[in-house]
Amino acid sequence: MTRLLLCLVLSASLLSAEETYSGKYAETAEWAALREGLPATLERSGAIVRERLGAADLDLAMVVLEIRDLPLSGNGIVPSANTWTRRRDGKAEQVIRIHLEPVFAGIERLDTILTHELTHAALRILLGENAHEALPHWVREGLAVWAAGQGPNRVRMWLCLLSEKSDPVAELVNGLEAGKHVLRDYPEDWLAIAYLEDRAGVEGVRKAVKLLAGGMSCHDAFAVAAGQAWGEFEAGARAHAESALTAAWDPALHESWAGAMANVRARRWDAVEKSLAELLEKHADTWAGDLAGYYVARARARLEREEQALGDFDAFIAGPGRVTGLLDDALWHSGACLEKLGRFEDALAGYDRIARDFPWSGHAAAALLRTGSLAEEELDRAEDARERYERLLKALPKSKEADEARGRLAEMDGE
Ligand SMILES: [Zn+2]
Repeated sequence: MTRLLLCLVLSASLLSAEETYSGKYAETAEWAALREGLPATLERSGAIVRERLGAADLDLAMVVLEIRDLPLSGNGIVPSANTWTRRRDGKAEQVIRIHLEPVFAGIERLDTILTHELTHAALRILLGENAHEALPHWVREGLAVWAAGQGPNRVRMWLCLLSEKSDPVAELVNGLEAGKHVLRDYPEDWLAIAYLEDRAGVEGVRKAVKLLAGGMSCHDAFAVAAGQAWGEFEAGARAHAESALTAAWDPALHESWAGAMANVRARRWDAVEKSLAELLEKHADTWAGDLAGYYVARARARLEREEQALGDFDAFIAGPGRVTGLLDDALWHSGACLEKLGRFEDALAGYDRIARDFPWSGHAAAALLRTGSLAEEELDRAEDARERYERLLKALPKSKEADEARGRLAEMDGE
C-alpha cells in the first residue's frame, strides 16, 4: 500500500507545502481540487480553532500533516484521523495523520476533519504534553467535536447506528469519565461542552481552556468556567445530554421505526415501502428519516422495481446516507440493481468505489471480487480481471473472496 504521501508544514500565517502524495487518489481530479484548496482550508481551520478556543496568538508552526492510504481490511472499523506529539531535533512537533477515504466516501468533509484534528494539536500546544496526557478524553473529544461543528451529525449518526436498541439514550449517556473512552462517547462529550456553552457562552468554554492551559485541573477548570461545583456540572451535563438526546430520538418515532423494521425482518417489502414512505413524509428531518430512504430503496429493489430503487439509492447516497453508516451498503445494493439491468460498467464503477473509498467495509472484498467477475464474464476484459483478482489476493489473502479469486486465476491460466 502506498504510504505517506504528503507533508505540509503550517505556519501561523502562511502555509508552506512540500507535497509528495502519490497514493491511490493522487491522479484524480477530486484530489487535485482538494490539494489546490488545502492551504486555504488549513488556514481557515486554524482560524476557527483559534477563535473557538480563544487562543488568538496560537502558533501552529509545528504542526505537520501526513496523508496516508488505508489498506483494504473489511474489519468494519472506520479509522478516524489522529494527532500526536513527536520530538524532532529536540523540538515538539504535532503530527496530524488523516486518511482521505472518509472524505471520498462522502462521510466527512476534509475541512471538518482538519478543524477537529487541529483542535487536538492546539490543546497539545496550549497545555503541554504532560498536562494534555492527564486531560480526560471527554474534554479532548468534546472540544474537538464542538470546534469542528460535528456535534449534531455525531448525534444523528449514533441514533441511526443504535436504532435497533430499545433505549439509545441510555447507550449514549453513561457518565463523562466512566470506563474506557470509545467512539460512542463522542455525543456525550460534545453535549457536555454544549452544556457549558449554554450556561456561560462561548466565553465560558474559552475560560475553561484558558484555565487548563494555566495548569488548573480539569474538574476545577470546568467548575470555575461553569460557575458550579464539579459535581453540579457533571450532573447538569448529564441531564442536558439526556434531554437533548431524548428529544432527538423521540420515543414515539422510535416505536413506529421498530414496527417498520419488523416488516424488513419479515421481508414484507410492500409494507416496508408503504410505512417508510409515510414516515419519510412526516419525519424526513430526523434520524429515522435519514435511514428510511435506504430501506425504501431496498424494498423497491426486492419488488423488482430496479430503476426506481436506483433513484432512491442515489438520493440516499448524495443526501442523508453520510450520517447513517449505510453508504457502502447502499452502493452494494445499487450495484446489484445495475447488474440486473445489464448496466455492467456502471455496476463495476460502484463496486470499485466501495473497494477504494470504503476499505473497512464488510462489502469491500466482495466488491473487488465482483469487479473481477464483471470484467471477466460480462465485459470481456481478461487482463483487467486478472489484475483485480491479484489485487484481492495481495490485500486479503486469507479471505473467502481471495479463495474464489485464486480459483478464477487458476481457471484463467488453465485455458
Ligand atoms: Zn478526536
